[in-house]
Amino acid sequence: METDTFKFECPKCSQKLSVREVYVGKTLKCPTCKAKIVIPDPNLPPPYVPSPDEPAKKKKSRKAELYTLWIDHENAGPYTLGQLRSMWAGGKITAKTRYWKHGGKEWKRLLEIAGELE
Ligand SMILES: [Zn+2]
Repeated sequence: METDTFKFECPKCSQKLSVREVYVGKTLKCPTCKAKIVIPDPNLPPPYVPSPDEPAKKKKSRKAELYTLWIDHENAGPYTLGQLRSMWAGGKITAKTRYWKHGGKEWKRLLEIAGELE
């Protein structure tokens, strides 16, 4: 399961680089053109964009926070925290699973909210 290497192109010189997934988000110097590049995440879908009418619904739902998950290279959900808890208990999601809390700015790993899921 440790084939965490992926390839991407240097945005400056188009050199194909191979990096391990653990370096995602980190800055690396391109060995060819020496440009500093932030390692892109190959798995991330485009950011979640709320539909325009979504804020209107907000006042009705009291604290119904929604989470979109990234499972098997696809968006899954949205789920409520309660649903996440049962998925967590069933082992369908792990600390490494990425989630997007609606209204948030970026994907994070469930590790960050593991305390709320147990
Ligand atoms: Zn380069």
